[in-house]
Amino acid sequence: MSYVAEVIAVGTELLLGDIINTDAQFISRGLAELGIEVHHHVVVGDNAERMTAAVELARSRADILIVTGGLGPTYDDITKEVVCACFGKELVMDDRSAARIVAMYRKRKNNVPMTENNFRQAMVPEGCTIFQNDWGAAPGSAFEADGKHVVILPGPPRECEPMFRTRVMPYLRSLSEDMIFSQVVRIYGMGESRVESILHDHMVEMTNPTLAPYAGTGEVCVRITAKARSEEEAMALIAPEIEYVKQALGDVVYGVDVESMEEAVLRLLKIRQKTMAAAESCTGGLIAKRMTDIAGASWFFRGGVVVYSNEAKRDLLGIPTELLDEFGAVSNVTAEAMAVAVREKLGVDIGVSVTGVAGPGPDENGNPEGLVYIGVATADSVQVQIVNLGRGREFIRTVAATKAMDMARRALERMEDK
Ligand code: ATP
Ligand code: MG
Repeated sequence: MSYVAEVIAVGTELLLGDIINTDAQFISRGLAELGIEVHHHVVVGDNAERMTAAVELARSRADILIVTGGLGPTYDDITKEVVCACFGKELVMDDRSAARIVAMYRKRKNNVPMTENNFRQAMVPEGCTIFQNDWGAAPGSAFEADGKHVVILPGPPRECEPMFRTRVMPYLRSLSEDMIFSQVVRIYGMGESRVESILHDHMVEMTNPTLAPYAGTGEVCVRITAKARSEEEAMALIAPEIEYVKQALGDVVYGVDVESMEEAVLRLLKIRQKTMAAAESCTGGLIAKRMTDIAGASWFFRGGVVVYSNEAKRDLLGIPTELLDEFGAVSNVTAEAMAVAVREKLGVDIGVSVTGVAGPGPDENGNPEGLVYIGVATADSVQVQIVNLGRGREFIRTVAATKAMDMARRALERMEDK
């Protein structure tokens, strides 16, 4: 059977806009991987009456309730009490969690005396499955009542996320005999509607696996989800579909089962044993940031320079002032010179460069917001592409960085192995 889940985030701070409900985001992503549909996200404050109403509504329309937050030791943390009251369950002490909390206090809090309310965190719904918390104090739990599955998790994302990945996802997977697995094909350089129109006829015919396109920031993903008795069987159903999508869409497919363009580029750098560096103007170091977000990148991504002003372009990369004066910083010639220079200065195989107008509004030379030149230099060629990325500083910078990495990816794909 296929389940519908509802994610309820508890916390007045979420309603005040102090923090973003990131728990719901990664939980929903995980549920999508499991093929579990989510129809509603709910955020409710630390208030028993409204929390009760939220739980009652969720149980009326979903099979799985995932409740996050409000498992702390303080009086405003009432999630377990409210959820248990809704399902007629008692709270009982989990000795193992209590012992862990005592040990944690001894070690981490330098023997600060514990107060009685700390033990509230070790209380769990009677008869539940306990998810031990290796990242904090409060354990998570899951139980089934009246045909509904209820999962309770601590709110802090650094606890919630690993617990969800390592404990809750396997638990949810075991609820159904069929296992659900999915893989994501990532696409850059083709819009969602075009992807959809190319795949449409094929997609509507399919039931297992299913294909579903969705849009990210400047890119598109196609999720392929299969239901089967084992992971191997599911993967056997998925593999030909990956090939189909690749064939149908061509080289705009930049990766399968990678999280991002930077991961795809790093993988290729490793396969080809090549090195890369970036010279960035309007992206202000974003390429370097994203490449170095991935651990173990340093041999392959050697580094980069942020050359925001003409002086920096001259002093750090040796771009001649005359060239900048004649053609302007936002130009084909400058992008080319930056890519070549950073490649030479850092002694790498691939130099990428970005120079453009992030906005808001046009630059002092009348170049419009969103106009960006992106260069890629290798041992035997330099290419520059000009793109118009529309409006919005954040969006322009993100997509310009992605585009530069995509050009590096394409250059890498053309290269021979070392
Ligand atoms: P604690 O022991 O820290 O109180 P808790 O399980 O009671 O844990 P909350 O009190 O709900 O959790 O939240 C603690 C902190 O965790 C919040 O201040 C917030 O920074 C973060 N947090 C809680 N819920 C979410 C959420 N849904 N998304 C992102 N961050 C959250
Ligand atoms: Mg709390």
